[in-house]
Amino acid sequence: MNETWKKYEEYMFKISAYELMLGTASFDAHTVAPKGGSEYRNERMAYISGELYTLSTSDELLQMLKELSEDESLDDDHRRIVRWHLKDMMRDRYIPKDFFVEYEKLVMDANVAWEKAKNENDYQIFKPYLLKIIEMKKQQLTYLPDGDKGYDVFLDDYEPGMTMAKYDEFFSLIKEKLVPVIKKIREREQIDDSFNYDYYPIDKQKELAELIMKYIDFDFDNGILSTTEHPFTHPLQKHDVRVTTHYYEHSLVSSIFSVIHECGHANYNHSIRDDLAETYVFDNISSGMHESQSRLFENYLARSYHFWDNLFEPMKQIFPEQLKNVTQKQFVDAVNKVECSLVRTDADELTYPLHILIRYEMEKGIFDGTIDLERLDEIWDEKYQEYLGIKAEKASQGILQDVHWSDGSFGYFPTYALGSGYAAQFVKAMSRDLDIDQCLANNEFKKIKDWLREKIHQYGGLYLPSEQIVIATGQPFDPHNYTDYLVEKYSKLYGLNEE
Ligand code: ZN
Repeated sequence: MNETWKKYEEYMFKISAYELMLGTASFDAHTVAPKGGSEYRNERMAYISGELYTLSTSDELLQMLKELSEDESLDDDHRRIVRWHLKDMMRDRYIPKDFFVEYEKLVMDANVAWEKAKNENDYQIFKPYLLKIIEMKKQQLTYLPDGDKGYDVFLDDYEPGMTMAKYDEFFSLIKEKLVPVIKKIREREQIDDSFNYDYYPIDKQKELAELIMKYIDFDFDNGILSTTEHPFTHPLQKHDVRVTTHYYEHSLVSSIFSVIHECGHANYNHSIRDDLAETYVFDNISSGMHESQSRLFENYLARSYHFWDNLFEPMKQIFPEQLKNVTQKQFVDAVNKVECSLVRTDADELTYPLHILIRYEMEKGIFDGTIDLERLDEIWDEKYQEYLGIKAEKASQGILQDVHWSDGSFGYFPTYALGSGYAAQFVKAMSRDLDIDQCLANNEFKKIKDWLREKIHQYGGLYLPSEQIVIATGQPFDPHNYTDYLVEKYSKLYGLNEE
């Protein structure tokens, strides 16, 4: 290996040490740390973030990356690592360090305020933080050479190549194909899912989570499950990937699908090739690609009948009273029940993209100035009325439900819908090579994981999403795979073609 690459690796070791410390502290703050310590903690974490910023935007690193980018002796994989790293770094260098540190502190404080606001059902606690974050995001744009592109800049941050024009087209297909189906289903007899709202003790739910994680072959030697307000996955490194969930005493399925969703993310990070695991591409994976893997687990697999062949009876043993009169078919039908509901993370697959559309339209409006920032909570409610015909009684089920805006993740939401779209195409390709239902029925989840590793996970973030999709499926992304899948699945479930 050449000298510059060796120097670069040594430099990256230093960066990764800072990242590990900050990442561990951040996980601690989100899970077990007492809220009272947040001021002290956040000031110091923001300081360390600043030190990391200095290290990762230095002239020395820039010089190394520039040299490597012109080095003809590097193989294709190494050239890609250098290309992505250099691209991101050039961008980061436009942001002044003071601004960066101030922003880091703000989002940590905002997260604490958001959690308090959500628990107390009071948007006013969070509002000043949200407005300040928006102001700083707008200021951030003024530092960037392409800042005049506005919201497109943030969309591209999370999904390279995506723009408002492309998302507009994507969402207009969704509206055209799905809204009529949702309308027809609302006129049908509703599926009974009342068992879900029974009392499910949390210690028993934990037992169930472990059972499901074993079935989907979660790598417990290199990962853990913890609890938080808002479920997330935290990949500290290949051999330490942490997933979290939130248990509700009066919902059986909320935590089940959160756990499976997060395990889909974790599986991506666990399955990267060893020689890439300590490089820049370990987790600079686009959000759409990452969400495609979590949504694939959560929906395409876990909401299918055969996923439960090996789990339903053991689950009944954990909750014998609550599930006494429920069959596997009733359970699977219930977890696919279409309902215009308030909370995104509990939404069915069919109405889910409308939840995303609402957030996408709001974010667009925030950055093009067409939304009155003083009325964000009201506009949220108006959009739920418009698209889903319902209105939140409590802010915790309205604008406060998601964690994302508290950490400034504008541009992230649309990737959930896009990722679900990618997943449809991956599943279609997978089913050419594997009988997926049979793998599930035979307790051979590993075969599914092997396919995903071989076609997608091993590469980490080596390829752009557009390239990765072609590698895995042989075709460029076609959102019709997604809308066709949803229309077919739900027409069958609700007997819409049997007029
Ligand atoms: Zn996710």
